[in-house]
Amino acid sequence: MNKLEDIVSLCKRRGFIFPGSDVYGGMAGTWDFGPLGVSLKKKIMDEWWRFFVEERDEMYGIDAAILMNPKTWVASGHTATFADPLVECKECKSRFRADKIADGINESVTTEEFLNTHTKCPVCGKENWGPIRKFNMMFSTHVGAVLPDDDTELAEKNIAYLRPETAQGIFTNYKNVLDTFYPDLPFGLAQQGKAFRNEISPRDFILRDRECSQMEIEYFVNPKNWEEQFEDTRNMQHEFLEKIMGLPKDKIHELEVPAEDRAHYSKRTIDFMFDYPNGEEELMGLAYRTDFDLSNIARESGKSMEYRDKITNETFVPHVIEPSIGVERLFLAVLSNAYMEDEVNGDKRIVLKLPENLAPYRFCVSPLLKNKPELVIKAKEVYEILKKKYKNVTWDDSGNIGKRYRKQDEIGTPKCVVIDFDTLEDNTVTIRDRDTTEQIRESIANL
Ligand SMILES: [Zn+2]
Repeated sequence: MNKLEDIVSLCKRRGFIFPGSDVYGGMAGTWDFGPLGVSLKKKIMDEWWRFFVEERDEMYGIDAAILMNPKTWVASGHTATFADPLVECKECKSRFRADKIADGINESVTTEEFLNTHTKCPVCGKENWGPIRKFNMMFSTHVGAVLPDDDTELAEKNIAYLRPETAQGIFTNYKNVLDTFYPDLPFGLAQQGKAFRNEISPRDFILRDRECSQMEIEYFVNPKNWEEQFEDTRNMQHEFLEKIMGLPKDKIHELEVPAEDRAHYSKRTIDFMFDYPNGEEELMGLAYRTDFDLSNIARESGKSMEYRDKITNETFVPHVIEPSIGVERLFLAVLSNAYMEDEVNGDKRIVLKLPENLAPYRFCVSPLLKNKPELVIKAKEVYEILKKKYKNVTWDDSGNIGKRYRKQDEIGTPKCVVIDFDTLEDNTVTIRDRDTTEQIRESIANL
């Protein structure tokens, strides 16, 4: 198993992911995607959109605003319950998420339970704790002309939150889509976008950051059929993860979340776990959310969320199946699965065996020698042909050919195309395969 540090190092060295605000010494829990990272991330998101939205008739996409009416978060329960247990060391004033520094307790730990674990402060080593306090993880801000010295009442009135999940932007648009597109059940709404969580201690690279991208679907079903729809959705997630993202079946583990650990609104939840370099971690979640959200919105807004069946005239509030995936979690699963170290001619090699549909570049084109103008001119011709056909093609004439191969291996380019003196004679090129390092001759016309 490869190590997370090796992947973090590759990400920085090759321009996939940089620490956020790196030039100013960083900003905890934020990461910036570099040129290759954004390419891979976009491909992951585009494949998801194609697979779950564009290729299906009953799916609709939306893109809601990040700032939402604060009633959203009252209705969804986030204002009251989206909180982690915070504990402060009275000696050194360090603050921690209690359930992350003590064993055998969970998020709902009480002060007494925590003290009974006799945990020592990870910073100063003493054992002198304050009470557990609930720390709400929503980032708050003020909308409009609110000044720092305005009274708290005005500030409270104008408070807004950066959305902690994209799901509520979907639920709040359910009625709009119902009234404009008249879809039959089952139908789904999909959204990709940023979500924000003020994690007490962000960690594990991009697995637990304060700003992330989510891809969520709310699939509206007749409650009579929820079990069947849940199974369909579940199978579709496997198909996407295994066939489109290229993740091996044996690294994905389903965790049936027991009733006592489920969110209060969920009647069934399966966490899809993945074997990350640092161990098994959640990759995505699949939850049966019942009519919890739509009913809350109906109550809070005073508007009916009912659906009327066009044939039977039956009227009810649809239930919801929700597959939810974090883009960064999927990105790291794809990247860590592709990361390999092997040996080529006795030399250690790092290679990213990314699926062809996700690799930032599909081809790298280069002249065998950069100081031979006739080779460079011919290579540019081939480059233009491939660029026009495949778009994601890169050019590399730096260093020697061996070094170029190493670099392209590290960024996951499946094929390197090399133009040499034979090309000038017979219009064939060398194609070198990333995974096998084998080289074949192919006519330019067949590329
Ligand atoms: Zn301390």
